[in-house]
Amino acid sequence: MSNVEKVIIIGSGPAGYTAALYTGRAGLNPLVLAGPEPGGQLMITTDVENYPGFPEGVMGPEMMELFQKQAERFGARVQHDTVTRVDFSQSPHRIYVGDKEYQAHAVIISTGAAAKWIGLESEKTYGGFGVSACATCDGFFFRGKTVIIVGGGDTAMEEANYLTRHCEKVYVVHRRDTLRASKIMQERAMNNPKIEFIWNAAVDEILGTDTPVKHVTGVRLTSTVEDKKWEMPIDGVFVAIGHKPNSDVFTEWLGHDENGYLHHKPDSSHTEIEGVFVSGDVADHVYRQAVTAAGSGCMAAIDAERYLEARGL
Ligand code: NAP
Repeated sequence: MSNVEKVIIIGSGPAGYTAALYTGRAGLNPLVLAGPEPGGQLMITTDVENYPGFPEGVMGPEMMELFQKQAERFGARVQHDTVTRVDFSQSPHRIYVGDKEYQAHAVIISTGAAAKWIGLESEKTYGGFGVSACATCDGFFFRGKTVIIVGGGDTAMEEANYLTRHCEKVYVVHRRDTLRASKIMQERAMNNPKIEFIWNAAVDEILGTDTPVKHVTGVRLTSTVEDKKWEMPIDGVFVAIGHKPNSDVFTEWLGHDENGYLHHKPDSSHTEIEGVFVSGDVADHVYRQAVTAAGSGCMAAIDAERYLEARGL
């Protein structure tokens, strides 16, 4: 039988490392199972300008290195392991990395979410260099520019509206001729004079150059209803075709919405299973910011600490 940990934190983005920092400072000697993409979504972000405390901005990977160091300073142990299965049927809870079993009195799930991408090679090439999946994070870099946003849901409409604050012109390209977005969001986008819709079309290729610096120069669009392709000059591409929470290994045990976002009790990080807590984007499809994830990691750590204390653990 394995040693029983006081607290295991699954995931290593802003939520996970903040939970590790707080539980570390509480003397709980947390074990962080960092997951397949240690550092989380910020590892694929270039400049972060909206995290308080960095007046000059900071690179995403650098910020996550700082988060990790700060957690380790208070005793967090970070292991580059990916959880493959959990068993929350009894306490202590069981967590598996392949055949290896871990046990913990408290578990904090901070596995985050991943933006869905179109699936083009050029999307990866220009990711962070004109291609983004977060208008709130990167819209500011496109002041006075022309951008295109892919998607027809609420996120695409919300982000298109947001982008018009910075951009000269925002095209929304949608693969059908009706939107999935709610009526009110549709109307807001359609009434915005800076937004133009391109219906029944998909981004087929993102065009760019490496000189003088790597940047996007345009897109090739393809019609979804006729045999037609065309190119369009563009400065930036925002992909807003949804996010997927990294919750697959937990949904058997925990309540979740139809998209897989984990449920927690109101105003807390408690799930319906005692000793299992959630924080960050895996349970939040609304805010999805590093700072809100970090805040909820702190909440989960405090909830876990109180839970352990109440049980004399
Ligand atoms: P969503 O509702 O799933 O919409 C995704 C959109 O992307 C759809 O229009 C879909 O097209 C399109 N799409 C999917 N895969 C694609 C692909 N490979 N290529 C091109 N287009 C693709 O996702 P979401 O907009 O992120 O919203 C997620 C949830 O959050 C929803 O429940 C939404 O209501 C909620 N939300 C609410 C607010 C708000 O109320 N303020 C804001 C944001 C999000 P099809 O329509 O053809 O399937």
